[in-house]
Amino acid sequence: MAWFRRSKASITSGPQRKDVPDGMWAKCDGCGEIIHRKQLEQQFYTCNKCNFHFRIGSKEYIQLLLDDGTFKEMDRKMRSKDPLEFKDSKSYKERIKDSIRKTGLNDAIRTGTGTLGGVDVVVGVMDFSFIGGSMGSVVGEKIARAIDRARKGKMPIVIVSSSGGARMMEAAFSLMQLAKTSAKLAQLSDEGMPYISVMTDPTTGGVTASYAMLGDINLAEPGSLIGFAGPRVIRQTIGKDLPPGFQRAEFQLEHGFVDAVVHRKEMKETVAKLLKWMSR
Ligand SMILES: [Zn+2]
Repeated sequence: MAWFRRSKASITSGPQRKDVPDGMWAKCDGCGEIIHRKQLEQQFYTCNKCNFHFRIGSKEYIQLLLDDGTFKEMDRKMRSKDPLEFKDSKSYKERIKDSIRKTGLNDAIRTGTGTLGGVDVVVGVMDFSFIGGSMGSVVGEKIARAIDRARKGKMPIVIVSSSGGARMMEAAFSLMQLAKTSAKLAQLSDEGMPYISVMTDPTTGGVTASYAMLGDINLAEPGSLIGFAGPRVIRQTIGKDLPPGFQRAEFQLEHGFVDAVVHRKEMKETVAKLLKWMSR
């Protein structure tokens, strides 16, 4: 029997941002413009007309950030167990199997080393397409190991987040990853190595409550939803309407949660500049 029944659309199923479609043409969710796939790729998967940022996966983001051919993946084969034998509308085991088949990924983050604008770095890039980019034990462990790699190699780390939060099917095992990744980042900080967090749409829940907000510098893509609890929960709790643009990157910049909102076209250059500046 399922434990919970969802009565409202989830963050993963809304009419908002969808993954870049496979076909030749893509329709901009921001202004409705029809864009050729090749052109979209050249524009870093953003709309020239309205600046809408399409949701992209780790493959595209790694290509965008790292120097060509320098990415070396770590812990590629790590997969989640099902310690709680969790079942909602589907068993967790089945959900993992389906996600692996659909995405060709083993979990919601890929980590590795490479160079970014000539600087040696460790990177972690999340995939929203894998169970809503949720953070379970594999995501937490891969981040922890990536931070250890950065500490060992005296390299900075860049993590690109895209997540609905903790992975409910792993319950406390998932929540433990908040503490684990935060503690690892504290060790990195003690050793004076920089960490740049890049938040994309959406960065919410447990990921915002841990590593996504702990960057020495926190960058965000324009228009990204960034927050802990969603607007609906907050509205119900405080019993008031929320201001326009609530929890979007620009709103978070204005309220001091984000250091800069950076267009995806300028992300690599910005991160490279910051890394060079911080390693001086
Ligand atoms: Zn557009």
